[in-house]
Amino acid sequence: MHNQTVAQLVKQLQSKAVSSVELTQYYLDRIQQKDADLNSFITLTAEQALAQAKAADARLAQGNAPTLCGLPIAHKDIFCTQGVRTSCGSKMLDNFIAPYDATIVQNYQNQGVVSLGKTNMDEFAMGSSNETSYYGPVKNPWASDCVPGGSSGGSAAAVAARLAPAATATDTGGSIRQPAALCGITGLKPTYGRASRYGMIAFASSLDQAGLMAQTAEDVALLLGPLSGFDPKDSTSVDHPVDDYTRLLSKPLTGLRIGIPDEYFGEGLEAGTEKCVREAIAEFEKLGATIKSIKLPHTSLSVPAYYVIAPAECSANLSRFDGVRYGYRCENPQDLDDLYCRSRSEGFGDEVKRRILVGAYALSAGYYDAYYAKAQKARRLIKQDFVAAFHDVDLIMGPTSPNPAFEFGSKSADPVAMYLEDIYTIATNLAGLPGMSVPCGLVNGKPVGLQIIGNYFDEAQMLGAAHQYQQATHFHTLAPANYK
Ligand code: GLN
Repeated sequence: MHNQTVAQLVKQLQSKAVSSVELTQYYLDRIQQKDADLNSFITLTAEQALAQAKAADARLAQGNAPTLCGLPIAHKDIFCTQGVRTSCGSKMLDNFIAPYDATIVQNYQNQGVVSLGKTNMDEFAMGSSNETSYYGPVKNPWASDCVPGGSSGGSAAAVAARLAPAATATDTGGSIRQPAALCGITGLKPTYGRASRYGMIAFASSLDQAGLMAQTAEDVALLLGPLSGFDPKDSTSVDHPVDDYTRLLSKPLTGLRIGIPDEYFGEGLEAGTEKCVREAIAEFEKLGATIKSIKLPHTSLSVPAYYVIAPAECSANLSRFDGVRYGYRCENPQDLDDLYCRSRSEGFGDEVKRRILVGAYALSAGYYDAYYAKAQKARRLIKQDFVAAFHDVDLIMGPTSPNPAFEFGSKSADPVAMYLEDIYTIATNLAGLPGMSVPCGLVNGKPVGLQIIGNYFDEAQMLGAAHQYQQATHFHTLAPANYK
């Protein structure tokens, strides 16, 4: 049952070969058996899931139920879920019960989708290894001594270990694509503004974007509709028609123009990873696409620009966690200053504090122009590189991450080494473009991801190309040995 894709499961639900209650119970049992070791969930909502499944079965019995009705999925613990703890991976919100649902959570509920629970993540989505979570690290299902990637490590590990058919996630600088690559699954971050950010706890508002993880591109295509759309409650969501994301799945790739940026194959790219990615590109050529090399000359500015802009925005966004309104409050505060100071010192972990300090510094009078304004100029140049490239190509491809999953502790003492994990993914967020990762091979038994970057609102094209590739290859069907 657990190796079935979303596409297969929803067919069985619609034909009543399986009920939503049976399916939901099956996954809840599997999580109970397997997750004590993996740690991919922070909160399991078994009772609520079964109640939702029962309601979904009633809808399915009436006929005309939406395609996804009765499908169980998991939500990253960054999305507010009414009446359920929403921790964002932090001690600060360990006791926070959200009073409302995030728009995307609500959208899935309206379709009859069942929520199994909330997945583990780096604290406030800051990290590339899931090691900054207050709830402890998540193991990579492919190699238990290695990280699953981050910040959506819980969602990625849960889908890879077949503890959920799909999961929601978020991507500010690579947090969907990098863990998807390291866990051997398919992940997509849509165009900035495509999905509502309402009820998604903010890290860096101009970069944060909700997205999806599943076994296949077809599954992501099926799930993307309800995630997408204008939301009057989010002023950054874009009023652009929602596509039929399955519409190009069966389109042959003949004539598709794919650009390969020279800058994505330089120093720092592990040899085995490069080999898998180049083989994947050759496969696209075999399928009829035209491959040409392109230049994204400002690529080297993306990590430095991101590590000014993201901390700056996080320092503002996280100022709301002050021990007064929600979340953790220190014991016996002496006065208001002591309350703020100790609640924040005790409630936040090291990486979050580091980012707040860097961000507050970059925004301070006298430094704003030197750091923040300059980073925004670099961001514009990075965006212009992509806009120019998309005059000549339909999609851009390269590695998702410079290396396969790495061992716990191997990068956590060196923030810069950790920040370089997102060297190929960050530019996409700075430009607001959609990006995805698809499995394209194994290096020493650990998965490697191919990154596909599309033009604005061109998710259907990316998913179509990814699906054609997955029809011709088997990497997306591989499951880790202990979770087959
Ligand atoms: N790894 C990056 C960071 O630590 C990106 C995180 C994300 O996309 N949420 O900021």
